[in-house]
Amino acid sequence: MTYTGGCRCGAVRFTARAESIWRSYCHCDHCRKATGAPVAAFVGFPAAKVAFEGEAPRSFRAGPVERSFCGGCGSPLDYRDDRLPGEVYFNLGVMDEPERFAPKLHAFESCRLPFLRIDDDLPRFERFSIER
Ligand SMILES: [Zn+2]
Ligand SMILES: [Zn+2]
Repeated sequence: MTYTGGCRCGAVRFTARAESIWRSYCHCDHCRKATGAPVAAFVGFPAAKVAFEGEAPRSFRAGPVERSFCGGCGSPLDYRDDRLPGEVYFNLGVMDEPERFAPKLHAFESCRLPFLRIDDDLPRFERFSIER
């Protein structure tokens, strides 16, 4: 399978030539700040199967976590974690067809904003959904 995505302005584009390995919501406050949204959603791929084109993304690091963004328009692009080597997690909204990546679980349910109600039967994890 081939999936594509990119930032809002189109300067950064990427292609993932693999099935997704992960799809989740994250309610943690780091993801909330990094995305500016009440909840983040991610779709993960093997990093070796992802190729970027156009402008190189900018990035910032906090401990083991590195997040990238477009230096032109600021769109938050991806999440990488030294504790999850070889994997890249794109913010769901930067995929060209985000409707194809319905999340399968909620992480950091303990941090969910009280007014945010997502009516589904997905598993809910109090903290990380992948321990690290
Ligand atoms: Zn951009
Ligand atoms: Zn998070």
